[in-house]
Amino acid sequence: MSEAGSDREPELDVVIVGAGLGGLYALHRMRAIGMTARVYEAGGGIGGTWFWNRYPGARCDIESLEYSYAFDDALQQEWKWPERYGAQPDILRYIEHVADRFDLRRDVRLDARIATAVYDRDANRWTLTTADGEAVTARFCIMATGNLSTPRVPDFPGLERFRGRWYHSGLWPAEGVDFTGLRVGVVGTGSTAIQMIPLIAQQARHLHVFQRTANFSLPARNQPMDPEFERAFKAEYRRRREEAKRTPVGVSGFLAPTRSALAIPAEERERRYEELWQQGGTIGFLTSFKDFLLDEAANETAAEFVRRKIRSIVRDPAVAELLAPKDHPIGSKRLCLDTGYYETYNRDNVTLVDVRSAPIREITETGIRTAAAEYELDAMAFATGFDAMTGALREIDIRVAGGPALSEVWKAGPRTYLGLTIPGFPNFFVITGPGSPGVKSQMIHSIEQHTDWIADCLVHLRGRQLARIEPEPAASDAWVAHVNAVADATLYPRADSWYMGANIPGKPRVFMPYVGGVGAYRAKCEEVAADNYRGFALSR
Ligand code: NAP
Repeated sequence: MSEAGSDREPELDVVIVGAGLGGLYALHRMRAIGMTARVYEAGGGIGGTWFWNRYPGARCDIESLEYSYAFDDALQQEWKWPERYGAQPDILRYIEHVADRFDLRRDVRLDARIATAVYDRDANRWTLTTADGEAVTARFCIMATGNLSTPRVPDFPGLERFRGRWYHSGLWPAEGVDFTGLRVGVVGTGSTAIQMIPLIAQQARHLHVFQRTANFSLPARNQPMDPEFERAFKAEYRRRREEAKRTPVGVSGFLAPTRSALAIPAEERERRYEELWQQGGTIGFLTSFKDFLLDEAANETAAEFVRRKIRSIVRDPAVAELLAPKDHPIGSKRLCLDTGYYETYNRDNVTLVDVRSAPIREITETGIRTAAAEYELDAMAFATGFDAMTGALREIDIRVAGGPALSEVWKAGPRTYLGLTIPGFPNFFVITGPGSPGVKSQMIHSIEQHTDWIADCLVHLRGRQLARIEPEPAASDAWVAHVNAVADATLYPRADSWYMGANIPGKPRVFMPYVGGVGAYRAKCEEVAADNYRGFALSR
């Protein structure tokens, strides 16, 4: 579909932003349908999240045999995951392998941060420009920019005068950091901090953990891959991948629950939670009972179970109480997964600092000063999260020529159709974006589903000599209303989470992911496509 010029670069069919798991698969799929495509990546290497997040303990919270591409059976049969959960170096090695195996690198530009994306209605072309001024033009634009790719360091006054070293989890030095013998401060107690704290505690002379909000964390029970488990799993890989398509989070073996937590005797419920606690992982809890995230009383049974566990592990009752979350339903913020997190607070060299009651006031030359005390530190690790879901898109000046920027259009919160497209922005697609179940699912599963949907859509357009697709505002309004209605029927909006944009001062509070489940979402996407792309304006 591309036209070759003699001394000009041939124009592309598709430009893709981001060379993480999403962008690489998009490139592979675009090639497979005969489109010319190129990926632009801000980082100096491929891998996205797994390129940047090299902090100690970085590991996926979904089992490695699930958290991998499903599109190629030989790949999934041949690849060997060393552990139950993939560690960052292993996942990055896997991504590098996939890039080589499918010859993807030749169409990836590294160190090329996209600064602007402008659509020319008359020419029906997107022109993207990198921060260095390189421009590329394509008929379609796919944003695979990730949901947790815009690191956020809170604007504590005084950070610039700190004489020690400081790091953000999402921009961790590739060569690693040696904390041996240092007085270290970790700010934050989300999924990231919960993974890094036990390991930093083993190195540091002393570790202070600055906690504003306690989070629920469950044991991972990570272990080396059991060869028999792997063999049995791989023997039924295809069936499992098919099954995952109709499940709530895109992971096989975890079907939509049918029982209520309140409909069974308390002892039976406790036994179930105990079983899940011993098994390890978060999805078992999330899909334990149908009212887990719908009914406060049902949710409280699980929350109290975990609080009791925390109290039984942490020896100092005051510390245990601080670590036991009481201000949000369990699962309404991302459930964390750990290896020895609560046990770490039994170490003599670890102190939990409550910065809810006494907030951080400033960073000094020698450490952190809260409203209550001053802490001398040699190094600080900020595990303070990301401008989630919309951050990476907001950083790019995306607009139709002469029109407002997407960041302006989304000032009151993101509006999409199916989480894949945006009204007013033709021939523009987002992978795992707001309004889709992306972040509430096995990400690679959603990446494949979204990309396959986009690929089918482009084939549909080509087959009918159509050049443009754009969602109708009414279809987007209805989708946004549906996303909100589904969320409002759950306990999710009760938490100040990054799902709500609550971690970024001034960001509108809108619940962004679609929580109707992967299976239900896939069915809706399929229905829309089968009905001649209902809700879209298609034109020549
Ligand atoms: P996060 O969940 O947003 O946690 C950020 C932490 O920093 C919170 O504890 C937050 O406290 C704290 N914080 C932020 N600003 C602060 C301030 N001014 N003062 C004190 N504390 C402050 O970020 P994350 O831990 O990086 O995780 C983000 C997401 O990445 C996860 O939810 C998950 O989806 C993904 N992730 C997954 C894995 C995995 O697969 N195992 C691992 C890591 C991350 P408040 O809660 O009070 O705001």
